[in-house]
Amino acid sequence: MAFVAIVCLSLLAIDCWNSWQSRSDQLRQMSVATSNLARAMAQQADDTIKKADTVLVGMVERVEHDGTDPDDVMRLRRVLAARVAELPQLDGLHIYDKDGNWVANSRSTQPENLNNAEREYFVFHRTHEERGPHIGIPVQSRTSGRLLVPVSRRINHADGSFAGVALATIHVDFFSKFYDSFDIGEAGAVALVLENGTMMTRRPSTPGIVGRNMRETEFFSAYAAHGPVGTAYIKSAQDGVTRLNSFRRLANYPLFVAAALSKDEILADWWRETLWHSGGVFLLASIVGFIGWRLIRQFQLQTRTEAELRQARDALETLNKTLNTLAMEDGLTGLANRRQFDVALDSEYSRAARTASTLALIMMDVDCFKQYNDIYGHAAGDECLQTIGRTIAGLASRRPGDLAARYGGEELAVLLPNTDAAGAVVLAERIRSAVRDLKIEHAGTADGFVTLSAGVDALSPAVGDGQPKQLIRSADKALYAAKSGGRNRVCASTVQPVPA
Ligand code: GH3
Ligand code: MG
Ligand code: MG
Repeated sequence: MAFVAIVCLSLLAIDCWNSWQSRSDQLRQMSVATSNLARAMAQQADDTIKKADTVLVGMVERVEHDGTDPDDVMRLRRVLAARVAELPQLDGLHIYDKDGNWVANSRSTQPENLNNAEREYFVFHRTHEERGPHIGIPVQSRTSGRLLVPVSRRINHADGSFAGVALATIHVDFFSKFYDSFDIGEAGAVALVLENGTMMTRRPSTPGIVGRNMRETEFFSAYAAHGPVGTAYIKSAQDGVTRLNSFRRLANYPLFVAAALSKDEILADWWRETLWHSGGVFLLASIVGFIGWRLIRQFQLQTRTEAELRQARDALETLNKTLNTLAMEDGLTGLANRRQFDVALDSEYSRAARTASTLALIMMDVDCFKQYNDIYGHAAGDECLQTIGRTIAGLASRRPGDLAARYGGEELAVLLPNTDAAGAVVLAERIRSAVRDLKIEHAGTADGFVTLSAGVDALSPAVGDGQPKQLIRSADKALYAAKSGGRNRVCASTVQPVPA
């Protein structure tokens, strides 16, 4: 049973392990995919800004070198317009003087009395001497209303003092449209963020998201922890979706991009596959378990039936043995009974005839036993017979063929194959004396103890004479002689009685 359980559990465990592995693989692959996506976005953002910035570098150099005489401004304006026409990401190019007034821009119409001195990028350059590019927080165009990313550089006088700002404005749309071309699923998200935490653009877009400060969000903390290049699982504070985020900082500008895919969407296929798979494996394990269980039950039943059959057979054998014993044994003395004695006498008689050997018989009779019963009671008589039986059995079972039997009443017999009369007399005498030595009190006999008399005969039967009774008769005769001779003695039919 434990084996079947182990097999089924192993099947399930292997399937779980496989499923877990394929889940890890899926997440790993998706991690690579989002990482590649972030790389492409970072590259595109870097290139887009770089192109605008390169134009700015040219403009700054020109204004600082040529000055802002009306002629120069005219030429400058044409150059700016040409550059904007070349670069689709550009909304406009603008030059401001040190007070924030428009000097030149790429538009055909020049706005009048417009002052940008309060714009963030203007304030930045006026208060910072660095010459590098500055990327400001997104602004809404005063002329078109579109969201623009300002990229600007400081213009200096020859003495290094602040002379104004060169500004390129890039359409936020330019990034968004690029991001729209990615397949990021229903719940995927991509974003371009300033390193100070200002959101530049995000897909999907939500109202007011552009320009929002993300510094306090988990998203920004994850970038701070895993950037400039890294991945992290983040549960969105906005929609509650857990996403796999890949961050990448732009190579040349203080911005970073994030590409995020929904964990649920990444694992949707895996879930479907795993459910089917696990269902199949569960079914298989159930079938294996059921069949195994049935087989084991059948096996157990069979084993039990076999054990019961064995028990029944053993019980029958024991019963048979008991019956056999009952049929062949004398109940009181435990010696062979008369039936067994008759059978043994017939077969030993025939064998003696066949093998031309001698068969001897000792017939014994307890002396004055009637009196014993009368004096000590029938129960004591039984007990006495039992004791005598044990004594005879102990002495007359030296050879395999010897058989001690209760011939009837208090008459006992010993059949001795391959034994002559002399040998039988020796044994008979040994029995007689052993019984006498038991010293069982008997007030009715001459010497006061229980004794027995024995008659012995032996013969070598001729083949086919078939007269075993003849042996009994002659042994009986000898017994009679022993009785008449005074009891407690052994007589042989062919030899003289041996005196006690
Ligand atoms: P003898 O010396 O001539 O053999 O005298 P006896 O009294 O032994 O001879 P008898 O044959 O007259 O008596 C035999 C008695 O043995 C009769 C019977 O009561 C007793 N007897 C025979 N079988 C049993 C037995 O199984 N148990 C008991 N207690 N007595 C038995
Ligand atoms: Mg008798
Ligand atoms: Mg007797």
